[in-house]
Amino acid sequence: MPEIAENAAAPTDRQALLNELRWKKFPVLDDGFVCLVDIMGEDSSIVQAARVSYGEGTKKGSDDRTLIRYLLRHRHTTPFEMVELKFLVRVPMDCWRQWIRHRTANVNEYSTRYSIAIDSTQTTPADEWRTQSQTNRQGSEEMLPADVGEKLTAAERELQELTRRVYQDRLDLGVAREQARKDLPLSTYTEAYWKVDLHNLLHFLALRMDSHAQLEIREYSAAIGRKIVQPLLPMVWEAFEDYRLHASGLSRLEIGCIQRLMQHAAANGRVPPLSTEDFLAVQDPSWRELTRSRERDECLAKLQELGLVTR
Ligand SMILES: Cc1cc2nc3c(=O)[nH]c(=O)nc-3n(C[C@H](O)[C@H](O)[C@H](O)COP(=O)(O)OP(=O)(O)OC[C@H]3O[C@@H](n4cnc5c(N)ncnc54)[C@H](O)[C@@H]3O)c2cc1C
Repeated sequence: MPEIAENAAAPTDRQALLNELRWKKFPVLDDGFVCLVDIMGEDSSIVQAARVSYGEGTKKGSDDRTLIRYLLRHRHTTPFEMVELKFLVRVPMDCWRQWIRHRTANVNEYSTRYSIAIDSTQTTPADEWRTQSQTNRQGSEEMLPADVGEKLTAAERELQELTRRVYQDRLDLGVAREQARKDLPLSTYTEAYWKVDLHNLLHFLALRMDSHAQLEIREYSAAIGRKIVQPLLPMVWEAFEDYRLHASGLSRLEIGCIQRLMQHAAANGRVPPLSTEDFLAVQDPSWRELTRSRERDECLAKLQELGLVTR
């Protein structure tokens, strides 16, 4: 059998870290939290599993960090499934509705058929109401002015108090909990145990820490990632940041644009960054006739980030 990786955290340090993290509630939003209940495995468990398949040769050729980075970079995913994490989370139901779409986790949620709904709703401070994004139909943009926010927050408070009162009246009149709850707002907090293997957790974090995800679930995933996964699995986290979170892929079409842009620059004796007009001149032919193209916009944004086209 392969040995456990040599540079795993010393057992006492690891135990101290686990003692510090387990059951610690990291606050998210106004009354939510994420909390690690348990973890099976560490960085070295991934290395240990990978060495079963790659054999002893890898032990000489690469250290643990290098191997983890290789596995993550090349999407050799199964060794990451050897690590399991269990969380207790408290989340508003609108956010939970997005969370629960990740089917590869195991879930037990607080039952509002069995118990009275948690008496807490997520509230929005006056300075945190966001406007609808003009470019992303699913996203938000900037903050609304404070005076508008004051009115929205006051109306929110009124609505949440009303729905709670109606809910309580129904219970007092003997209505079953399963029916009494039907008009509770999506801002009502729920709690759940959520267990997931590390491969699927990283998939969740990549999607939900991304700027396209809703701000609220981004706050939850950032808390899980940075407060819990990062300290417990430092090598995995480093590789995840490098190859997933802050990485970007190029499609065949985008590679073609870059090649033509460089040829265009060389032919005209210029050096990047070039202009948006230059980019439009070398864009993929399939985008040329389109007045609006999301794919073209995304390509332009990548080239701007690479410093090949001016912002
Ligand atoms: C920014 C954003 C916007 C979104 N917008 C919408 C929206 O408008 N409407 C909407 O309905 N959803 C939306 N979603 C949810 C999205 O479509 C996914 O359902 C969600 O992100 C879960 O991803 P997943 O299926 O990859 O994860 P998991 O369910 O955890 O699955 C992980 C992986 O396992 C595999 N897998 C799991 N189950 C199956 C299966 N039954 N068959 C085959 N393969 C499987 C797949 O490879 C999958 O990628 C959005 C998600 C994000 C991040």
